[in-house]
Amino acid sequence: MISTSDLVAKIEAQSPRVSVTRGPLGDGAEERLVVEGDIGLTPAQVLPYAARRIEIARALEDDPDAEKQGLLGIERDGKLLRWRRGMTLTYCVWRPSFGSDDEHAAAVKGMRAATSDWSAICGVEFEHVAQHDHAAALSDDVSFPVVRQAGGGTLIAMAFFPDDPPPQRFVSVFDGFFSSQPNAFDPIGVMRHELGHVLGFRHEHIRPEAPDLFDPESLDHTMAITDYDPTSVMHYVAAGVGDPKLRFTERDKAGARLVYGGPDSEFTFAD
Ligand SMILES: [Zn+2]
Repeated sequence: MISTSDLVAKIEAQSPRVSVTRGPLGDGAEERLVVEGDIGLTPAQVLPYAARRIEIARALEDDPDAEKQGLLGIERDGKLLRWRRGMTLTYCVWRPSFGSDDEHAAAVKGMRAATSDWSAICGVEFEHVAQHDHAAALSDDVSFPVVRQAGGGTLIAMAFFPDDPPPQRFVSVFDGFFSSQPNAFDPIGVMRHELGHVLGFRHEHIRPEAPDLFDPESLDHTMAITDYDPTSVMHYVAAGVGDPKLRFTERDKAGARLVYGGPDSEFTFAD
């Protein structure tokens, strides 16, 4: 059995490293190690993460059914974590971080379509505050900015969870988001997936029912909202599982409605 320090070394060697910042580019950059494909850990979080991964691997060796638990939510204080009812999540797409107007326009378009898709299935409200897109410094007057980060390798985009502190709330897009390769991910689908994290949903493929193609991850502080869903918008694509277009499934819709309710357009309101 691998030791914690061996696993830390392995995670550090294999994880893409990205430098993230909310301030003017290059200022106050913090390093993140990317695990689970698009979850960023600070260097200080790697050791506890590795220790927990080893505990899970041991538990699974003793009992393959251990950690049994479609949309997977985040548990805090015994309850599901979500944004407050009626809150509008505001964002800007910060142009100074983008290399060109075309890239900026592509990110704006992806966000517009993906936020509209989430609103349509569960009624959450997003608003693009475009006047902050061209500010010299990133504005704190939005719930989160979308920023362009250079590089990333296989990392296409990265988001945050609702209980991350405000300085860590931003969505990053990397080189792969703008790829024109025929097998590239649909950028709107990528944004749907990242906004799923923003709304409080974890990766579907970390569930024990998922095929054994991914590293075992901790299910601590998670709550199953629906049955396992191999084509969920929150499921990664590997070896024939998952949907490369990252569309919503019926279970995604049902799960999101359980957490956030439905869109106003589906109700008649009494005066
Ligand atoms: Zn993800």
